[in-house]
Amino acid sequence: MSRIHAAGMAVLVLAAFTATAQAQAPTPPPFATTKVEGTDNVYIFRFGGHQSMFIVTKDGVIATDPIGLRRPAAKTYIEEIQKITKAPIKYVIYSHSHFDHIAGGKPFKDLGAVFVAHQNAKTRIQQVKDPDVVVPDQVVTGAKRNITLGGTTLELNYVGKNHSDSMLVMRLPKEKIIFTVDWIPLNGVQFRGMADNYIPDIEEGLKKVIAMDWERMIPGHPGPGGRLGTKDDARTALSYLQDLSAAVKEAAGQGKCYADAMKDIKLPKYESFGNYNANLPLNIERYCDYYNRGI
Ligand SMILES: [Zn+2]
Repeated sequence: MSRIHAAGMAVLVLAAFTATAQAQAPTPPPFATTKVEGTDNVYIFRFGGHQSMFIVTKDGVIATDPIGLRRPAAKTYIEEIQKITKAPIKYVIYSHSHFDHIAGGKPFKDLGAVFVAHQNAKTRIQQVKDPDVVVPDQVVTGAKRNITLGGTTLELNYVGKNHSDSMLVMRLPKEKIIFTVDWIPLNGVQFRGMADNYIPDIEEGLKKVIAMDWERMIPGHPGPGGRLGTKDDARTALSYLQDLSAAVKEAAGQGKCYADAMKDIKLPKYESFGNYNANLPLNIERYCDYYNRGI
């Protein structure tokens, strides 16, 4: 009886602790716009857990992902831009074809913005026909295309298939900043089962990004503490995939895919990553698919 009572008390104390911790954790505001330190005109717009880059020039604004899936982010995004400049929003560039990043762009279209994306994103959008996703007006078909506006050049680089087959790596050569979304985690393993990721192509893409000239990366979801990415993050993302791939290849060769591999493979070098415990088994499952079934 007393042991049960003690256990009950422990639960109550724990609950009280948790409640206090939750009360003390600051709630981030629903959206925020920040100027990237050291730049004249590069901004990050965050809405919830998604974010985009925009660049203000004297001749207009280059915006990226509307991040408006089932929420009014684009309206807020435009209001935030217009607090900074009354210059027209000339472009909206989609990072890749996933709708959580690119839906909701109609308010930009209504203002006359030209939408640009990789050709494969346009093809996908035209197939799905979601009324909430604006079809791109212009496309990137080769390895690179430049957008130039008001003295700013933004490179739209295509480095092959990685997270989707339509990922752009947007690079500001003068500022040495890139914006690319969902595939280069900051202190994180890959997201869940790596849906719509191309293996092993993603490794080649990371090598190309590492070879580019840049110093800071704006991610599509805020990094730990809101920090930007560095080349070390890209190198870590690559070494994680290489280590994961080697470990699963060995396990697959021993017939351990899926269950034993998912249970037994550990990559202690990366265990400090926030989502390591939850997502490593799912990342392993994805590589088991590759080694066992060639997909
Ligand atoms: Zn994505």
